Amino acid sequence: MRNESRTNKGKERIFEVISNSDIPLTVYQLSELTSIPVPTVYRNVGILEMEKKVKSFTLEGVNYFYESGKHLHYFKCEICGKFVPIKTCEINEENIEKLINGKVTEHLVIFFGICKACLEEGKV
Ligand SMILES: [Zn+2]
Ligand SMILES: [Zn+2]
Repeated sequence: MRNESRTNKGKERIFEVISNSDIPLTVYQLSELTSIPVPTVYRNVGILEMEKKVKSFTLEGVNYFYESGKHLHYFKCEICGKFVPIKTCEINEENIEKLINGKVTEHLVIFFGICKACLEEGKV
């Protein structure tokens, strides 16, 4: 019983952090941000995904978690790996629906390139 409630508290805390983040987070980042051990985070994001509260995508072998239904656009630096949230949306879901003859429920857009800091440091 005590274990059960501790797990739930951990799960709630993990969801809160994912929900409040404007960039997608890895299990390791979630572990750092919540001070919850990696295996516990791993188990809980799995449960949150099953509950459809959280979704994930895999990029270069790394899983990133974000809140379901959130409107998401990111820029990812190919040099330092940093994600930058993009607050505008140029995507017309109605046009996409016409192309696929279906219904769009959400979208996830990731732009790749070189961030300001990496450009300035001449890492290119
Ligand atoms: Zn960078
Ligand atoms: Zn959008």
